[in-house]
Amino acid sequence: MIKIITVIGARPQFIKAAMLSKALQKRSKVNEIIVHTGQHYDDKMSSVFFEELNMPVPKYNLEVNNLSHGAMTGQMMINLEPLLLSEKPDWVVVFGDTNSTLAGALTAVKLGFKVAHIEAGLRSNNLNMPEEINRIITDRISQLLLCPTLKAIHNLKQEGFDNLTCRMVNTGDIMYDAAIHYSTQAAKTKSLSKKLNLSKYVLATIHRAENTDNIEHLMRIIDALNIINKEMKVLMPIHPRTHQIIQQNNIVCHFELIEPVGYIDMLDLIKNCTLVMTDSGGLQKEAYFFDKYCITLRNETEWTELCENGYNTLTGSDIHKVIESFHHYKDKNIGDKSMFYGYGNTAELIADELLKDI
Ligand code: UDP
Repeated sequence: MIKIITVIGARPQFIKAAMLSKALQKRSKVNEIIVHTGQHYDDKMSSVFFEELNMPVPKYNLEVNNLSHGAMTGQMMINLEPLLLSEKPDWVVVFGDTNSTLAGALTAVKLGFKVAHIEAGLRSNNLNMPEEINRIITDRISQLLLCPTLKAIHNLKQEGFDNLTCRMVNTGDIMYDAAIHYSTQAAKTKSLSKKLNLSKYVLATIHRAENTDNIEHLMRIIDALNIINKEMKVLMPIHPRTHQIIQQNNIVCHFELIEPVGYIDMLDLIKNCTLVMTDSGGLQKEAYFFDKYCITLRNETEWTELCENGYNTLTGSDIHKVIESFHHYKDKNIGDKSMFYGYGNTAELIADELLKDI
């Protein structure tokens, strides 16, 4: 029996892990144990995903949240250490770039357990982003680097990973699998966009620290969205942290704010929107999966292929750039597309890789 411990803690990780669990369940002699660090704990940011994505229930919940970066990562490590020592996994699997990713990888490698990093090799080249620090360190200490794009492989090679004893594989992007799988389910449920009576609308999300911790950035983005809302409805499922900051600073939003939605509803909102404005990593690609242009409210992105091919524009928090890009994209349709993110079989490829050496 091969034992795999999957460490997850944040919304996008639940979505990615759901697909991996399905692929692992198809294989005999695999025992996957899910550890939820507790980083996202709100029902709307956590339990809704486990329920609607039909995920295995985590065997452990570390309940670590609402702490500063150092305290959070450290506390997760403290809680993970005895757990890994007693479970003795063949692999510890981590996803993406959160504190849960780093804590999982660092605890495992220090105890001599092998780490597989899903979404390896992504770089924004901005070390001010906590996510960038988490990615770089996690990649460096992982034995198996599962890269979502050719660019990610290229990034690792440029950093000399060819000379290390790790294995790098371009598996495609597991989020593409999730988008394909769950959008068929979305089609069967009552459409949220219909329930909200939406026709043409911009789907917007903001949650990244560079926008929420910097009030001026946040205010400029909200100003831009207020202006755009006069021309086309803006709908924002709002991240709890962003909501708290908006309320604390009495920032006025003239567009529609709704609570965070589940993934099935989110897919429906993406499919039916006119365009996407976001600082989310995942949403930039989901826009592309569903043929929507994306305005990225950041100065850099890890998904550079979308910008290089005109599907995505980086505006940061520059009001003029946001509004100009909105006018540029609002009546355009995406034509032929490239398969930047694989073929929707990423979870299967990852499961095969995990079982290869054991
Ligand atoms: N998402 C969701 N409900 C929401 C907002 C986002 O299900 O209200 C999904 C979104 O479709 C994507 C993932 O959450 O799959 C992205 O998560 P987030 O933006 O929090 O993180 P990032 O991708 O930036 O790491």
